[in-house]
This record gives sequence, C-alpha cells and structure tokens, in this order.
Amino acid sequence: MKREIDVLVIGGGVVGVCAAYYLGLQGRRVTLVEKGEICAGSSYGNAGLVVPSHSVPLAAPGVAMKALGWMLDPESPFYIEPRFDGALWRWLWRFWRSGSERHVRRALPLLRDLHLASRALFAELTRLEGMACAYEERGALYAFRTREGLEAGVREGQRLQEAGLQARVLDRAQVSQLEGMEVRAEGGVYYPQDAHLVPDRFVRGMGQQLETQGAEVLPHTEVLGMARQGGRVGLVRTTRGDFAPREVVLAAGSWSPLLAGQLGLSLPIQPAKGYSITFKRPAPCLAVPLLLGEAKVGVTPMGEWLRFAGTLELAGLNLSINRRRVEAILRAVPAYLPQIDPSAMELVEIWRGLRPATPDGLPFLGRVPGCENLTIAAGHATIGLSLGPITGKLVSQVVCGSPEFDLSLLRVGRF
Ligand SMILES: Cc1cc2nc3c(=O)[nH]c(=O)nc-3n(C[C@H](O)[C@H](O)[C@H](O)COP(=O)(O)OP(=O)(O)OC[C@H]3O[C@@H](n4cnc5c(N)ncnc54)[C@H](O)[C@@H]3O)c2cc1C
Repeated sequence: MKREIDVLVIGGGVVGVCAAYYLGLQGRRVTLVEKGEICAGSSYGNAGLVVPSHSVPLAAPGVAMKALGWMLDPESPFYIEPRFDGALWRWLWRFWRSGSERHVRRALPLLRDLHLASRALFAELTRLEGMACAYEERGALYAFRTREGLEAGVREGQRLQEAGLQARVLDRAQVSQLEGMEVRAEGGVYYPQDAHLVPDRFVRGMGQQLETQGAEVLPHTEVLGMARQGGRVGLVRTTRGDFAPREVVLAAGSWSPLLAGQLGLSLPIQPAKGYSITFKRPAPCLAVPLLLGEAKVGVTPMGEWLRFAGTLELAGLNLSINRRRVEAILRAVPAYLPQIDPSAMELVEIWRGLRPATPDGLPFLGRVPGCENLTIAAGHATIGLSLGPITGKLVSQVVCGSPEFDLSLLRVGRF
C-alpha cells in the first residue's frame, strides 16, 4: 500500500530542513525523511560560516592548477585518493573546463545575491523561539603569512568589493588588533558581512520548527528506491513504507546522485571530504572567525567552542577519518596563532563530513526536465550552510510558483 502525501523532502540536512520550513510557510503539507538523525550529514560539524566572502565560485581560473600541485601530497589542503572511477575523472575534467574568467563573471553576482539574501534569512530564523545557535554577525578575517598569499587575498577582496561586497585590507598590526590576540601574518582581508553560528544547533532547531508547523518529520527513515510513472516520480520506497507524493524534493547532499540515478538521472556531484576538530573555547580566544589563508583552515569561535575545519579530499562516499589529515589541520595553527596550542586544549569532537561538490562550484536548484514533480536542491559544496535558508526559500518558490531569482545558472540539466 502506498501512502499519498503532498510534498516529500528527502534529507534532513540544512537544505532539507530549510526547504521543508519554507514549503510549510507556503501552506504545503510536508513529510521529511532522513536516514539518520536530523543533521546527520555534512551540515553537522562544518565551520559554521555564513560567507558572502565566498561569492567567487570554487571553479575559478588557476584553482585546478593549484589543486593539481597539491593532490599528490596527503597532507595538503586538497587530496584525491588515486583510483579508477569514470565519474570522478569526468567530474575533474568538467571542473577544469569550468574554471574560466567568464564563469566567475557570470556566477559571482548570483552567489553574492544568494549569500546576502540567506544572511538576512539567518537573522530572521535565528530569532525564532527555541533557535539558540549562537548566531553572530561579526564578519570573518582572512589572514595570510606570505606576501604572495596576501597579494592574492587582496586581489580577491578587490574583486568582491567591485561586486558591491564590503572588504577591508588590514595590515599586520590591525589583524592582531581585530582578533584581540597575536596573529602572525603579513596582513589580511576582513569581510564585515560574514556571520557565524553553531551549525548543528541551527539545523536541529529548524527541525523543531517543522514539528511546530505541523510537518511530519521522520528520522531514521531511509529512501530505498524511487520509480517513475510517466513523466513524474510515482513511487518512493522507504524503510517506513511506500509513498506516492504529489511533489518530491531531493536534498540528500552527497548521496543525491545515488537516488537520482534510480530515475535515470546523472547528477555530477562528488563527495568532498573535510574534517573539523572542536575544542572547549580556550582563553584567550579569537574575537572573529579566522581563515588561515595559505593553510585553508577555518577557525571559528562558536558558542562555548573553538572549531578548526579544513581539507578537501575526493575519496568517494567514504566516511573514514584519516588521522594524518586531521593532524595536518592542527599543525597549521601555531604558525598563525602562537597563543593557541591545540595539544593543550580540551577536545570535544573530531568529525568528518562530505561536501556535495559540483564541477562548476554552483549547486543544482530547480525542477528536473522530464520529471515534472521532482525538484533537486543539492551540490552546495563549501557554501551549503551559508546558502541553506535561501535555497530552502527558493525550493518553496520553485514548487509553488516562480522563484525570486533567475536560477538558470543552477539548472539541473546543465552538464
Ligand atoms: C569540514 C567542513 C566545513 C564546512 N564549512 C562550511 C561553512 O563554514 N559554511 C558553509 O556554508 N558550508 C560549509 N561546509 C559545507 C556544508 O557543510 C554543506 O554544503 C552542507 O552541509 C550541505 O547540506 P545538505 O543539506 O545539502 O547535505 P547534508 O547535510 O549532507 O544532508 C543530506 C542528508 O540526506 C540524508 N540522506 C542521504 N541519503 C538518504 C536517503 N537515501 N534517505 C534519507 N535520507 C538520506 C543524509 O543522512 C543527510 O543527513 C563545510 C563542510 C565541511 C565538510
């Protein structure tokens, strides 16, 4: 027997819960299924940064070359586990091709507008009752130890400034002054419009908001299969029975290609593993989140914690923890922050998550051609927390009417 329902949202990460919330506000009756607990995936232990400063897409000129230089070093910020996997090599080829100046020129204004709109929604959502997730609008500082790194950081800051975002170049003394502690850097770029929060508290808080709205939230419910009937998804099989939804929203992060594949759709998303290491907040501590420019490590003071996050590893759907890479993140810290010694701090958790990465650094967001009741919202890579609320709002607009932004750059069939 299949149960007829209105909207089925697959995935209880930041994208799924925000989509379900805004669909509820549009008056839709939502069922959300999540194979683990709410916030079991990449949304759990990330760096918690809301980042208009990340409006240049990951696929930008020079990035693929730099990554190539890093990929053979197992301790570098970027690593590819050597293996024969056709989908991975096709993805890398597309990543290489996407990193053009033209792509950045087209994508940057859209990413800027989406990040800023999302930030405004964070300010609203985190004021809802029960949303205690330590949301702070303090900006973020990118610090660089080398002249070369600083010059590249300043160039990026200028580019974002020309696009209308706020960016302030700081000298060595100003960097330490802003953080309220010694930072060993040539200088930095401060982005006052960035913000941060404790990501799992935000996502679980949104899960609670769904219950308050009257949505049906089903954790520990895995989608096992989906089948087409004519030009639509007719059946979704789960560990809690079969559903016949009027609308389906696929928001399963790095697992989305597995489910889309059952409908004959190819979604080029590669899981890009990253790690975070969370400690009890030491004293003294940073005043604002700090990104260690050359090491590509984010350091976020969040609530009662201090979290270090970094590395990007293309190793498939593999959740193992590579201690060498965790240690490489921590080893990078004292060179920038001599007053912070991770080996003397109280460890809370070591975590890994899979960023869902597309070849052009833009998510998939929209309806699927030839499958009229399916909307995909996946592939947010390094910016999924930041874009979570606006993605959710746009999903509700795609399902119920027309979106407030032109989403053609994010269309599902673009590869
Ligand atoms: C180390 C690290 C640091 C990061 N820092 C930041 C940051 O500072 N700012 C930022 O914006 N982004 C950051 N990110 C990226 C961000 O975490 C992701 O882009 C975002 O969490 C993606 O959200 P999602 O909802 O698409 O996926 P997920 O959070 O992975 O959610 C997908 C959910 O779908 C569920 N699911 C999968 N298959 C099924 C199935 N068959 N049935 C039911 N449920 C299923 C999974 O269990 C999972 O809970 C970081 C990521 C990492 C790894």
